[in-house]
Amino acid sequence: MGGAERIAYFNGRFVPEREVLIPFRDRGFKYGDAVFDTTRTFGHRVFKLREHVDRLYRSLRYLRIDPGVPPERMIAITEEVLRRNLEILDPEDDYWVTQRVSRGLDPSARELWPQEGATVIVECVPLPLRERAALYRDGIRVLTPSVRRTPPQSLSPRVKTHNYLNMIAGDLEVRAQDPGAWAILLDTSGSLAEGLGSNIFIVQNGTIFTPREQTVLSGISRETVIALAREAGLTVVENAVDLSDAYTADEVFLTSTSLCICPVASVNGARIGSAVPGPLTRQLTEAYCRFVDFDFVAQYLKRLT
Ligand code: PMP
Repeated sequence: MGGAERIAYFNGRFVPEREVLIPFRDRGFKYGDAVFDTTRTFGHRVFKLREHVDRLYRSLRYLRIDPGVPPERMIAITEEVLRRNLEILDPEDDYWVTQRVSRGLDPSARELWPQEGATVIVECVPLPLRERAALYRDGIRVLTPSVRRTPPQSLSPRVKTHNYLNMIAGDLEVRAQDPGAWAILLDTSGSLAEGLGSNIFIVQNGTIFTPREQTVLSGISRETVIALAREAGLTVVENAVDLSDAYTADEVFLTSTSLCICPVASVNGARIGSAVPGPLTRQLTEAYCRFVDFDFVAQYLKRLT
């Protein structure tokens, strides 16, 4: 580590990461009573920061948490965190950059910790490029665990909270069967929902299908792919997608901030298509690279050698 320790924003100050110490009576720690949002950089340029911060503030409003900081200031803080940390980042690497806001401390904590109001953190960490590189060569193996995605009637999946236990439980089940597989949870009616950090798409006869926004987080990468597909004259249908649709699909892919768009090789062991990536996945990947003016696939694949 030495002199290259990253800097984070913590309740009004920019401090070395090791100095971000959260009291154990913070409700984010106790209950997962917190929200976050994460974007990434492409060649050290931040992606759709405004859209991510807007989604963060929607999550905050849903949970009635007042961050004590307006969105414009959150954007400026995020840019400052990046500015300070990009200096120490390898030119070939990129960051995930995340805002985290918890409701703050329980009243009983006040005598030990004087903090009033929300806990606000903005931090960044290098993307796991090497760990994920093979996914672009081989495609992702998707498994659906028995654990179902929390239904919108219980907690809106549109909100990015710190409580990921539902998806972690699904992931644990899947990784026990295949450590390299990615979990995509079904919803309570048996349709595909989403994974711990990703949205799913399938392609059938040239049409692209993805679960409706009411049942999943509206990923910024998901929205980006939908917009790029429609610009290219392709049809995108947001509707229930079940396992039978997936097993018979020509192509399946996942989207997420870090992956952008990444091909799926199999779903529950059923092989998808004859090539990884399939032709539409490839077309959309190229459109995504042009849109961000950065070849993220090459950035990943470079880590294989
Ligand atoms: N679903 C869930 C549950 C997620 O946590 C994420 C990651 N933010 C996504 C989907 C993908 O969203 P995005 O494209 O904004 O990263």
